[in-house]
Amino acid sequence: MLTKKVEAAMNDQLAVELESAYAYLAMSAYCEEESLPGCATWLRHQAGEEVEHAMRFYTFISDREGRVRLRALPQPREKYSSPLEVFEEALENERAVTRSISDLYGLVVNEKDYAAQAWLDWFATEQVEEEKSVGHIVDSLRRIGGRGDLLFLLDKELGERQGAEA
Ligand code: FE
Repeated sequence: MLTKKVEAAMNDQLAVELESAYAYLAMSAYCEEESLPGCATWLRHQAGEEVEHAMRFYTFISDREGRVRLRALPQPREKYSSPLEVFEEALENERAVTRSISDLYGLVVNEKDYAAQAWLDWFATEQVEEEKSVGHIVDSLRRIGGRGDLLFLLDKELGERQGAEA
């Protein structure tokens, strides 16, 4: 059984994960339009992963006899000036998600919900990976600057990502 506070906070985080999926999908569509198919593929896989995260929350809430409540999602941003701007925003978003997971973690500890705490450990660790992988792409794009030939190579590399399909 979840306390009302934990239930509400878990539903909030479910919305954060879906919001994140939605943002990545919009970023993917932008890259597709800009003829960066590798970036688009990478971001689309990322969107798929965020949907998986959301579904983990969905399942956890119902397994603990909570009630899943879906929130309205904001319209994601559609226009960017460059792939660098896309990934910089993605990094900002991941940092915000990390803060949100940390707040949730603090809340479940306060509520003495130790099962939820143990379950959230996976997310805390996952966020380290998320920030690291997006951060690496930001660094690469900064180094590349305006060089189209290097951007072409990075795009090719990012297109090789396999995993969750959006
Ligand atoms: Fe996530």
